[in-house]
This record gives sequence, C-alpha cells and structure tokens, in this order.
Amino acid sequence: MMQNKSPAVVWWDMNTCPPPEKLDPSQIRQSLESAFPHLLPFTISAHGDLNLIPRSLWEPILSSGIILKHGPAGSMPGDMRRWRDNNPPPATLFLISDSENVCEILPSFKVRGYTITGAVKQNKPEDAAKYASLATISWDHILSVAWYGRTTGRVMDKCSETAWVCNMCIDSSHPFAGESYESLTRHMSSAEHSIQESIWMNPSSGDEEDEELSSEDDLDNEMMQNKKTGVWWDMDTCPPPEGLDPYQVRQSIESMFSDHLPLNVSAIGNLNSIDAGVFPILSAGFFTKHGLGGPRDILKDIQRWAWNTPSPATLVLISDDEQAFLTSGYLHRLKEIGYTIVRVCLECPDVSPEYASLRYTWRDVLSGKLNREVDKVKDKCSETAWFCNVCINSGHIFAGESYQSLTRHFNSAQHSFQELKQVPPKLKASQSKKAIWLS
Ligand SMILES: [Zn+2]
Ligand SMILES: [Zn+2]
Repeated sequence: MMQNKSPAVVWWDMNTCPPPEKLDPSQIRQSLESAFPHLLPFTISAHGDLNLIPRSLWEPILSSGIILKHGPAGSMPGDMRRWRDNNPPPATLFLISDSENVCEILPSFKVRGYTITGAVKQNKPEDAAKYASLATISWDHILSVAWYGRTTGRVMDKCSETAWVCNMCIDSSHPFAGESYESLTRHMSSAEHSIQESIWMNPSSGDEEDEELSSEDDLDNEMMQNKKTGVWWDMDTCPPPEGLDPYQVRQSIESMFSDHLPLNVSAIGNLNSIDAGVFPILSAGFFTKHGLGGPRDILKDIQRWAWNTPSPATLVLISDDEQAFLTSGYLHRLKEIGYTIVRVCLECPDVSPEYASLRYTWRDVLSGKLNREVDKVKDKCSETAWFCNVCINSGHIFAGESYQSLTRHFNSAQHSFQELKQVPPKLKASQSKKAIWLS
C-alpha cells in the first residue's frame, strides 16, 4: 500500500560524522527516532568508507535496520542525486554530514520542492545550515539523547530491510549487495571486491606495482582469471522450459560449457512473466535480474561485465532477440577486441551472426550432455541472488540474497512506483498490478 505521508529519509555521512565506538550503534537509530518523532517512519542510509569503521560496529548498525553503503570518498552526493531523480517531491530529508561537498547539493533539493528539516553537524553547529528549515544540531547532542536514555518511547524497531550495498562493485557484474553481516564480511574480503577497490583507489596503477603483487594477490588474480566466462540467459525470449527444473537448466548450461567452469550465470528478464515462479530459478543458483528493458538490460549488464573482465574472455548469450543485438553493434565490437562470443538461439538462423564464434540452439543446450562433468556443477554461483534493474537508481533496496526479500521487494510501494514509471503507457493497462508468482 502506498503511504499517504510523504517519505522521510535520513542521510548519514559516516566519514565526517562517524559512529562513536563506545556507543551501541542500535542507539543511533533510537537517538534519531527520539529526536525527530514527527518524521517517523524514516529510512536511514549510512554512507562511507567501511574500512574506516570498526568491524565490530557493522553488525549492530545493520541489525538496527540502517542501510550500509560502502563507497569511495565523495560518492555520497552522487547517491543523493540518483535518489532525487527517482523520488519526486514531496519528501523530507535530514542530513548528517560535515562535508561541504555533501551539503552544497542540498539547495538544489530545496529548489525542487523537497523539505529539508534539519542538519546534524560535527563541528560548528552554531553556523546554521541555510538550506534547512529547522535547527542545525550537533552530532554529539543527537547521540547524547540515547546516551542518557531520554528516548521518547515512540522508537520503532525497524523501518527497513537489513541491507548493505557496495558502491565500488555496483558496476562490476559481481555481487555488490546483500542482507546480512556474514555476506558483507565475505564480500569485503573477496578477491572481486579487492580488485574493484584497488581500481577506485588507484585508477592509474602501473606495471611497477604489479611486480610487487604478493602471493596472496597472485592467488586472487588466478581466481579471477578462472571466472572469465559470463553467461546471460534471456528468460523473456528463451523462457524456462515447461517440465524442466531450473536446476537442470543450470546443469545443462554448465555441462555444455564445462571447459569454462566456474561460470558466472545470470538469468535476466521480466520476472513478472515467469509463470512457473522465480523461487526455483533463485534456488538453482542463477544470479536473477529483473528488468523491463529486454535486450537493453542485457547489453547494459554485458557492458558492466566487459568493463571488468578484459579480453580474452568468453561470453555466452542465450536469447532469441537477434535484431536488437545486431543493431547495437556492441557484440561485434567486443569480438574485434578479442572476446569469444557463443550464441544460443531458439532456432539456428540461416546465417550465423558475424560476431559469434560458435552457435547452438537452446534445445542443443537443454538436451545437453548431462552426464559429462556434472559433478563440477557448483551449488551457487553468486552471493547476491537477485537484483532489480528497475530500482537500481531509486535509492531504495534493489538487491538481496533470498526469495523472501525478493517477494517483499516486489510487493513494496517503492518497487511498484518505479515499475509504473518505466512501463510504457499502453502496457500499463494490460499489466496486472501484482506479479503472477506472488499471488
Ligand atoms: Zn565491493
Ligand atoms: Zn524493484
């Protein structure tokens, strides 16, 4: 259900207003809710470089329902702009930051009709923030509200899904979001994340540094080299076959391309149209991606992958929408710079697309050599189980690890709102409001 009250968001910049180590982070939410009871319920997203925040604080911050966003210094204004572009006013904002870069974009929010009720600063709270309609308060004062136990009693337990997002990896085609402390720590320790982080921190790293790679880095790089085959299964044009379990689909794909294991397999399409339900696809370990853009979404995803996976690398595209891929010319360019492209269609076209080195029919793959190399099939190929292309720039939750969180996401007012914005008007009338598989 859409709420009548306009949404309220708290943006917390942890780089300039860090969580005090001695304070139980669950009290931070309590402090904010006690200080601004008239704004409840509100979403709190905490931005910053998690490497600077003690790990002992990550779990309590996450479990108090605060969304953790890890990103390089200076990435918060970009996040706020994306949120603004996808969440029209009226909405109420509250900013906790001492960064001038962050504060200086707020007048543009005010001009567009957002209400900025107040600001929390670490230093010089007496210099009131001009963009805020209410008082400027010191961060220490806010924290002291809970510190001395002066809470209002109206504190809500939780107002958002437990969630984290890694802004450094968001365009990497590797997992970048999750729901638990465990997945966050796994992500922050992963080879994929370290590589993205080093690209962000040191964009022009040269050969000299490469020579100094430790044996641990060598191991990580070797692991990355082995993950150089990406598979895109377009479920809109090659839907899951009736009577065939998606796990068998996964097995067939991995058997067919067993020389390239482990594969990065994405199942991409309009999840509202999957009659058999999404649960079996998620459980089979596909990185499941919802979108309404068809080949446009697939090309964007392939672009992210190619950006982070230099050639030589192999791309397997399972889709029956040949025209869109030919017209874009992108796959042709990838071939020219050394990528091997394997094309799987429903029926083999008379003339094979020029960019493809190999082609198969979807039936070839599914009737697969199931007995070959089946033992190599891995249980799960990605940490982040699903993400929603429709909501990726909305500033709300758009990815998760479980079927439950996907269902909650599809039933949320924010998702419905974003989806309505993207569906062409003539389709709106014919699209049922609720996804078939959620009924
Ligand atoms: Zn990351
Ligand atoms: Zn969504």
